[in-house]
Amino acid sequence: MKAAVFHKMKDIQVETIDDPRIEDARDCILRVTSTAICGSDLHIYNGMVPQTRDMVMGHEFMGIVEEVGSGVKNLKKGDRVVVPFPISCGTCHYCNMQLPTHCENSNPDNYGPEGEVPMMKGVGAALFGYTDIYGGYNGGQAEYVRVPYADYGPRKIHDNLTDEQVLFLTDIFPTGWAAIDWAQLKGGETVVVWGCGPVGIMAMKSAWLQGAKRVIGVDIQPYRLEMARKSANAEVINYAEVDAVQVIRDMTGGYGADVCVDAVGMEADRTVLEKAMNVVQAEKGTMKVLEKCMDAVRRSGTVSVVGVYGSPYDNFPLYKWFDKGLTLRGGQAWVHRYIDHLISLVEGGKVKLDDIITHTVPLSEASRMYDIFNKKEDNCLKVVLKP
Ligand code: NAD
Ligand code: ZN
Ligand code: ZN
Repeated sequence: MKAAVFHKMKDIQVETIDDPRIEDARDCILRVTSTAICGSDLHIYNGMVPQTRDMVMGHEFMGIVEEVGSGVKNLKKGDRVVVPFPISCGTCHYCNMQLPTHCENSNPDNYGPEGEVPMMKGVGAALFGYTDIYGGYNGGQAEYVRVPYADYGPRKIHDNLTDEQVLFLTDIFPTGWAAIDWAQLKGGETVVVWGCGPVGIMAMKSAWLQGAKRVIGVDIQPYRLEMARKSANAEVINYAEVDAVQVIRDMTGGYGADVCVDAVGMEADRTVLEKAMNVVQAEKGTMKVLEKCMDAVRRSGTVSVVGVYGSPYDNFPLYKWFDKGLTLRGGQAWVHRYIDHLISLVEGGKVKLDDIITHTVPLSEASRMYDIFNKKEDNCLKVVLKP
C-alpha cells in the first residue's frame, strides 16, 4: 500500500510499504478514505517529539472496515467509521473511569512513572502514528491502517454525512470541546482562545455551544484570524501588532477573561512576535503563550491547555497560578468520552466542521503539504489527504 512515512526531521515521503495485518483478535483493518494533517504532526515533523525509526504518520482518519479480528463484535466489513486518535482498550482502570488517554494497556512500554530517560517514559495511552514514545503504532495517512481495540474506538457514521463533515470528530473537535469542558462554563463567560489554528477554531465553536457570551481569538497570522472571524464568529486580536494581554484587559473592564485556552503549545512563534513587537530583552522570558494566558485571565479564572507541551524541563510561573488562584487544566483530549455527543451535534446541524478545510489533495502530495502547512504558506489552515 501507499503511506506517508516519516524518516527524519522534515522528511516525510509517500512510498509503498507492506499492508497492515490483523495482529490481535480485537483489531480491525480500515481502508482509509480521508485523513488530515494536524498541528500535532508538526511536532514530529520539526523534531520536537523525537522518532528514530520509520513510521507511518497520521492520527486523524476515517474509512471503511476491510477486515475484523475474531474478537470484534460491533463492527463488520463495509462499516464506515471515524476513529478517535488515542488508542484505548476500554477495559482498564482508567478507561473505566472514562479517561481513555490514560489507558494502561495500549502503551505498556512507556506508561507509568517517569523513568531515567526523559521523554521516553511516563506518558499515557498510545496514539496512532505518534512515535515510539506513544506506542509506536503506524498511523492513518495511508491506504490502510490497523486499528486496535476496534470495538471500543471506532464510531459508525451515517452515509448522509460526507467524510469532510465528520473527519474532525477524530481529534480537533473533541480537543476544542475538551478545552472548554475543562473550564465548566455556567453561561455568559468571556473565553479567549490563543491560537487560531484548527484546534483553536474548534475551541471557539465549542465555547459558543457550551454557553460563552463572548469569544475572542488571538493569533499572529492575519489569514488565520480571518478564518476565526468567519468560521467561529470570534472577535480577533493580532498579537503581532498589539499587546494582546492589555487589549484583553481593556475588553473586559480591566479584569481579564473568565477562561483562556492555550491552543498554541510549545512552538509559540517568538521570531514573528519579537520582530513585530520589537520586544525588549527583558520580556523574552515571558513569550510563552501559557504564561500569557495566565496574565490575560481574571483572578480565579481557568486556563485550559490543549496546545502540546512536551519538554520534560520547564520554568513554570507557579507564583502566578498561586497568586491569582487559577484553575489549570490540560492534556490529551478524552475523545472517546465526548465523541457520541459531538456526532449528534454534527448530525443535528448544530455545528459545521468542514469550513476550515483549505486544501484537499491526494495522499501522494503529503510531503509537499507538510511543508506548506508547516510554513503556513498558501493560506493553509487544514489539509485533508485522500488515499
Ligand atoms: P497549528 O500549528 O495549525 O496552529 C497553531 C497556531 O498558533 C497558528 O495559527 C499560529 O500562527 C499560532 N501561534 C503561534 N505563535 C503564537 C503566539 N505567540 N501567539 C498566538 N498565536 C500563536 O496547530 P493546531 O492543529 O491548531 O494545533 C494547536 C496545538 O494543539 C498544537 O500544539 C497541537 O499539537 C495541539 N493538539 C493537542 C491535542 C490534545 O489532545 N491536547 C489534540 C490536537 C492538537
Ligand atoms: Zn491531531
Ligand atoms: Zn484502557
